[in-house]
Amino acid sequence: MCGIVGFTGSADALPVLVNGLKRLEYRGYDSAGIAAFDSGSIRVVKTRGRISELEHKLRQTPDFSASCGIGHTRWATHGEPTDENSHPHLSADGKIAVVHNGIIENYADIKARLIKRGYTFVSETDTEVIAHLLDFYYKGDILTALCKVMATVRGSYALGVLCADRPDEIIAARLDSPLIVGLGDGENFIASDIPAFLSHTRDYYTVDDGEIVCLSKDSVTVYNSDLEEIEKERLTVNWSVEAAEKGGYEHFMLKEIHEQPKAVRDTVSPRLENGKIFLDTDIPLELLSELSRIHIIACGSAYHTGIVAKYVIESLARIPVECDLASEFRYRKPIISKNDLCIVISQSGETADTLAAMREAKKHGVRTLAIINVVGSTIAREADHVLYTWAGPEIAVATTKAYSTQLAMLYLLAVKLASARGLISDEEERVLALDISHLSEKIESVISQINTLSYFASKFHNHKDIFFLGRGVDYAAGLEGSLKLKEISYIRSEAYAAGELKHGTIALIQNDTLVVAIATQAELAEKMVSNIREVKARGACVLTIASEATRDMLADVSDCLFAVPDCYSKFSPSLSVVAMQLFSYYIAVARGCSVDKPRNLAKSVTVE
Ligand code: GLU
Repeated sequence: MCGIVGFTGSADALPVLVNGLKRLEYRGYDSAGIAAFDSGSIRVVKTRGRISELEHKLRQTPDFSASCGIGHTRWATHGEPTDENSHPHLSADGKIAVVHNGIIENYADIKARLIKRGYTFVSETDTEVIAHLLDFYYKGDILTALCKVMATVRGSYALGVLCADRPDEIIAARLDSPLIVGLGDGENFIASDIPAFLSHTRDYYTVDDGEIVCLSKDSVTVYNSDLEEIEKERLTVNWSVEAAEKGGYEHFMLKEIHEQPKAVRDTVSPRLENGKIFLDTDIPLELLSELSRIHIIACGSAYHTGIVAKYVIESLARIPVECDLASEFRYRKPIISKNDLCIVISQSGETADTLAAMREAKKHGVRTLAIINVVGSTIAREADHVLYTWAGPEIAVATTKAYSTQLAMLYLLAVKLASARGLISDEEERVLALDISHLSEKIESVISQINTLSYFASKFHNHKDIFFLGRGVDYAAGLEGSLKLKEISYIRSEAYAAGELKHGTIALIQNDTLVVAIATQAELAEKMVSNIREVKARGACVLTIASEATRDMLADVSDCLFAVPDCYSKFSPSLSVVAMQLFSYYIAVARGCSVDKPRNLAKSVTVE
């Protein structure tokens, strides 16, 4: 959500900044802007709309040349996407420029105080208070002024600042919003995420909460909140620029769907040896065997993996599992005891709600285990234990491969819990582990039937309402299928536990309503046949996602059927969801939607 980039070096800064912003487009935005030093003074070009509009404006200022600047793509939280509200924001004398990702919660208070002191505001944003407050505290040292600002504001921020008294330097700081520093040769960068500078350097520092960074082309100095210099560990990116490019696919989403077999294999195989599961975390085995309850906390698709995991863990390991939406968990006074385990799940490791929920959980003294894709991200650093999913960079806003790797990770954990608690034999562990390790080739087999799924999409893309029905893990898979469809095709859809529909929502089923029935589990297939008959009796058209094991039972009652390979029945969401991803993808393409950057959405939601 929102992208920040900064560059200081010898090259022409403007194309570096624009290209950096383009690499962050996946995060979602509605406006873009740049501030840079031109002959010692700060110039700003900004606009509502896409980066192409910013480029257009830049072409109209051909005399603008700079070798140090900051750029921003805004995802509006305070004030509409307008030119005035776009970042960077300037102090009244134009000597300080600020880009900001996050929300300043006490901005109204600060704004009122600044107005009393004679400051005038030109935007409706919360961010503008930072520019004026920096000016207010500035007595010749921008670092001291920034420290005072950080002590005054409440909320979350990643900040990039230019100060006319320190030409060709960038000052940056963060609290609860992502920010990293790229370390080049005679050039340095700030960014919200690695792709922004990956074509220039693979080396970087992470910035921790409360730290302040000062960058010139030849040096990077990091300070703590008392302005004492601190040492940072130099990290190196281990994936390539190509991994963050489309590689011939029409959309990142399609590329990432195709990357799922590899992503799942990369996540699973290093954790299996001779049919045993080894979790590469320092979580003590006795702890797993003594757990009294598990809380799974996440948002969006990651939350849906948690619901699948609830079914799997409760059935295999017999531990009660509660699934919470992170934004709810924080405020519902959760009942947590010391023997519980909190599992937080996030692709980016920067999801603001999940981070805040994890911190809330830690206040209760409970152990936290994070399942995260981005190495070194905030949640990964703050959790007691971390298990990484090895999905590689995920660019499309609608998650596919991160979801699949999170599921695989949770299956491994479920089987490990069951064996640690003595509920399954070594042989049963071996069989289940083997089943998990075969998921990647089975996902491949679902993807190989891409033409069938695109045909179904061409048949149904004009439907206005779509229902997803399933029982048990099929219901959990339906939640994800429905979200995928909503996110990228804008078709209204709902997922229901199949047995629940008749308690109200069946009133919405009428002639030609499309129902996607997910029925992969042999033990529940008969019940699903009855549920399908109920909706068909009311005129629905039914597309069934079955498994090889259930295909025959369901073929007669369905209008169309797609069968995924058989696997241990509770792992079937790994296969049925891939079919629904492709179905949704082709529906979105047929409707002419912006698949990789759906309207109003951002990749990593770094504001509450
Ligand atoms: N809260 C700021 C605004 O609305 C920054 C939003 C963002 O992170 O892009 O302008």
